[in-house]
Amino acid sequence: MAKITNLRCRRCEVKGELRRVNRKGWLEREFLTRLGLYPWECVLCRAKSYRFARGDNS
Ligand SMILES: [Zn+2]
Repeated sequence: MAKITNLRCRRCEVKGELRRVNRKGWLEREFLTRLGLYPWECVLCRAKSYRFARGDNS
C-alpha cells in the first residue's frame, strides 16, 4: 500500500504528505527500476517526484 513518509514535497515544501504511487507504463517502470527510484505524489499539490525511498521501512 502507498505509505506517507516524512519526505518533503519539492513544490509546496510540506513535509510528510507524500505517498507512493504506482509506476506508469513500461518506460517509467524500466527506468525507475534500473535507477532504484520510486514515484511519489504530494497529497496536497499532486506534484510528482522520484525518490530512492520505497517507504516501507520507517
Ligand atoms: Zn506538494
